[in-house]
Amino acid sequence: MTISLEGKKALVTGGGRGIGGAITLALARAGADVVACYRDGGDHVDRLAETLAGTSGKHHLMRADVTRAEDVEALIQTCRDRLGALDVLVNNAGVISHVPFAELTPAEWHRVVDTNLTSVFTVVQAALPLLSGNSSVINIGSGSAFVGLALRAHYTATKAGLVGLTRSMNRELGPRGIRVNVISPGVVQTEKELSPEIVARYTAMTSVGRLGRPEEIANVALFLASDLSSYIAGADIDAIGGI
Ligand code: NDP
Repeated sequence: MTISLEGKKALVTGGGRGIGGAITLALARAGADVVACYRDGGDHVDRLAETLAGTSGKHHLMRADVTRAEDVEALIQTCRDRLGALDVLVNNAGVISHVPFAELTPAEWHRVVDTNLTSVFTVVQAALPLLSGNSSVINIGSGSAFVGLALRAHYTATKAGLVGLTRSMNRELGPRGIRVNVISPGVVQTEKELSPEIVARYTAMTSVGRLGRPEEIANVALFLASDLSSYIAGADIDAIGGI
């Protein structure tokens, strides 16, 4: 079955590659007009722009660091100018690092918290005037938030915090017609190289016998972006391959 987002306007943060890139493309292919931002960019953004040009709709990829207030302002202004309103907002931008808890510096803690959690507060708040009375905010969490991971205390703290933020925003914004949900992916193989040992270890933990693909997370986002999910609000949807 195909999902149509014809006429919908969407913003995807961190939408230049990986899971966010797949979400950008899936929304565009479903008929939405999409603005997506990235932090540094590169050849992968040019390739995505070329693919987007082959879809219908008005799309725009731009550099905007979601941890910088002036960039968030410019991002939302671009959505206002190009799209007029927003029906879908995907907070996907995220960073991770592997650091023993005893060696975690305040600077690294803040980098990860600012990117993965605080940005969701600032972007959603700035986007509020644009969000329509039938809109969907989709936050990309992580299945690791519910079990914990060694060396990623800072990362899992942000993703667990995102669930609380989502549920509370949903209670306040739901009556305005804004549904807020989280998708919690398992281990997803993006363009980034994973060692054979890591692939084998995480594959063995799944029931489906493989790591996830970015498109499989994008499919969940597509569903949450569409009116097919109209009664799903304040939820966490796990896409973890049975880990
Ligand atoms: P990638 O590192 O492949 O892509 C992240 C994207 O976010 C890039 O486009 C990057 O831009 C952008 N980004 C990072 N920081 C900022 C910032 N400050 N401002 C704007 N954009 C930013 O990540 P993944 O696709 O692996 O992950 C995407 C999301 O999914 C994250 O929230 C992650 O925590 C979550 N997730 C991923 C899993 C996985 O296994 N891959 C598992 C569970 C959750 P640029 O390329 O320019 O740096």
